[in-house]
Amino acid sequence: MDTKTEFKPSVLIVDDMQVNLTFLLDILKDKYTLKVAKNGQRALDIAKQGNVDLILLDIVMPQMDGYEVCKALKADKQTQDIPIIFVTANSESEDEAKGFALGAVDYITKPFQVSTVLSRVQNHLALHLKQLELEDLNRKTQRYLELIDKYVITSSTDLDGTIVSASEAFCSISGYSKEELIGQNHRIVRHNDMPSSLYKQLWNTITQDKTWSGEIKNRKKDGNYYWVEAAISPIYNELGKKIGYTAIRQDITDKKLIEEISITDGLTNIYNRRYFNETFPKVIDGAKREDELVCFLLMDIDHFKQYNDNYGHQAGDDVLIRFAQCMKDNLKRADDMAFRLGGEEFGIVYKSDTKEKSLEFANTIREQIEALEIPHEYSSASKYVTASMGLVSGRASTLGDMDSVFKQADDLLYEAKESGRNQVKTK
Ligand code: GH3
Ligand code: MG
Ligand code: MG
Repeated sequence: MDTKTEFKPSVLIVDDMQVNLTFLLDILKDKYTLKVAKNGQRALDIAKQGNVDLILLDIVMPQMDGYEVCKALKADKQTQDIPIIFVTANSESEDEAKGFALGAVDYITKPFQVSTVLSRVQNHLALHLKQLELEDLNRKTQRYLELIDKYVITSSTDLDGTIVSASEAFCSISGYSKEELIGQNHRIVRHNDMPSSLYKQLWNTITQDKTWSGEIKNRKKDGNYYWVEAAISPIYNELGKKIGYTAIRQDITDKKLIEEISITDGLTNIYNRRYFNETFPKVIDGAKREDELVCFLLMDIDHFKQYNDNYGHQAGDDVLIRFAQCMKDNLKRADDMAFRLGGEEFGIVYKSDTKEKSLEFANTIREQIEALEIPHEYSSASKYVTASMGLVSGRASTLGDMDSVFKQADDLLYEAKESGRNQVKTK
């Protein structure tokens, strides 16, 4: 057989009378692949074998009549979707109603009109095939949606940010179930490390009907975190009215982890010198627009060599860790940053409203360090571990570059050491 021949739908003709069969076969044979059954049972057997796209079913037959055949076909999953057209001499509406009630799609009455038979068969086949196509499309779409649900971290919210849908992938990365997420504000995954300025900018963008994209650190249910690259855009209903927002995200936790490691000091877990070099110039630059007061506090632990020599290197390490934690705990604004700049040298970059306040802050840090009350019997400055500090603060426009700020702070720090340690020097 030529495999390239046109697809011919297959029609099963069920009738007990040879004369009807002959007639129908004759008018349908050119367009369709035909199968024939002379009784109900035979019809069911053929239909069950598959490959029947439509059935022309005689009502009046001995043993099993058309209605019974129809019932049996509809009761079987394998055959229930095949369209059935009843063929009968009866043209009474009661019979028609019974046929439709049983699930027939149409009726043809005898004596046959060739054109009626042809057009009904053709229309119902076309309809049926369209339906199959649609079902197939639906299945494909369904599968596609399942894949998205499983692998794409997405969610949508209403206009207030209340979650209305969440994908499986979102649940799995955040550790929440769908039930726990839906109905909650999206804030549920917000991480404290993300500055409010980021969310402000995000909302500004999406409420202006634009797409926001960027990197966000989110909080998992168990308190852990994950990083995503997110794109958030408005969604509209059929009438073009904005009804909410949808977010598509990519997990970038690993990338961020590597980034984080490269900018974090291994011992104290605060930012390292490398990140300071990278960030401080940006901070100065970013502060220029509103000419903010930028402050750099450089610190060096007093008599730390003595500490190590007397209490041991391990105890010295512990001091460095506690020192760093103390700085971090006392940071005030979201974008204030603490760094370990060298062995026992630390720095804080922060913003302040006035020079007086910036000095107050520096002294708070100095006091808080001493207030850790880490005994240091070999220090000339105090009974406890202390630090000397040099503070440089100035308006971004006149501050100078990183190197000059660092040099000034270092000179001030030297002055603090010379003047007896455990103090802040500033200009
Ligand atoms: P000053 O008050 O003048 O700053 O005196 P100092 O002893 O603190 O200064 P010096 O620069 O002489 O010594 C710094 C010491 O810091 C020496 C070094 O052993 C110690 N140090 C540097 N890095 C580390 C570290 O990672 N762990 C420990 N335990 N000690 C460190
Ligand atoms: Mg030193
Ligand atoms: Mg020192």
